[in-house]
Amino acid sequence: MSTDAAGLVKILEAVADKINENREFLTELDSAIGDADHGINMSKGFSAVLEKLHSQEFGDCGAILKTVGMTLVSTVGGASGPLYGTAFMRAGQAVAGKSSLNFDDFIAIMDQALEGIKYRGKAQRGEKTIIDSLEPAVEILKNEKDSTDRKSVMNKALNAAKEGVEYTRSIIAKKGRASYLGERSIGHQDPGATSCYLMLQAAIQKIKEMSG
Ligand code: ADP
Ligand code: MG
Repeated sequence: MSTDAAGLVKILEAVADKINENREFLTELDSAIGDADHGINMSKGFSAVLEKLHSQEFGDCGAILKTVGMTLVSTVGGASGPLYGTAFMRAGQAVAGKSSLNFDDFIAIMDQALEGIKYRGKAQRGEKTIIDSLEPAVEILKNEKDSTDRKSVMNKALNAAKEGVEYTRSIIAKKGRASYLGERSIGHQDPGATSCYLMLQAAIQKIKEMSG
C-alpha cells in the first residue's frame, strides 16, 4: 500500500468530490445548529483546492497537502477553514519532502491533522466538533498500525468515525456557533464531525481501490 504524488492528488480529488456531493446535506445539518453554511464553505474551499492542484505539477506529497491547507485557510469562511486548513498544513509537515507515501505516512498524516485541529480549535472530544469523529478513527489507526490487514484497520477506523458522528447527536455543543444553543443542540448531528467522516470515507475508499 503506497502512493506517489499523482496518487495523492487522486485521493484528494475523491475527497473534494465527496464534499461537493454533500454540499446541501452539510449545509442542512448546519442550518439546524449553526448558520447554514458548512456545505457551502467546504465546497467552495475544495473547488479552489482542485483548481490549485490542477494548475501545477507536484512531486512532493508534503507540498501537496500544504497547498491544500493554505488554499482552505484562504478560501473557506467560517470556523472550518482555519481548522481544516491547519489540519492539512500540519499533515503536509509530517510528510514534507516525500515523493511517495506508505501506510505509516497515512497514519502520521491523520495524527497530525488531528493535532492541528486540536491546536487551532482548542477543543477536545465530547464538545460536538470535528474531533468527535476524527479522534476515534486516529486512535484505531495508531493502535493497530502493525496489523498486516490494513484494509480491515481502515474499515474499523472509518466505523469509529461514523460512531463518533452518531455520538455528536447525544451531546451539547461546547465550541463554535452551535454552542450558543446550549441544550437545544442535543439531538442534532454535528456538521463538522460529519464532513470529517465523509472526507475520511472518500480517502479510504480511494486508497483501497488504488491498492487493489
Ligand atoms: P461556522 O461555524 O463559522 O459557520 P462552519 O459552519 O463551516 O463554520 O463549521 C462548523 C463546524 O466547525 C462545526 O460543526 C464544528 O464541527 C466545527 N468547529 C467549530 N468550532 C470548532 C472548534 N473549536 N474545534 C473543532 N471544531 C470546531
Ligand atoms: Mg456554519
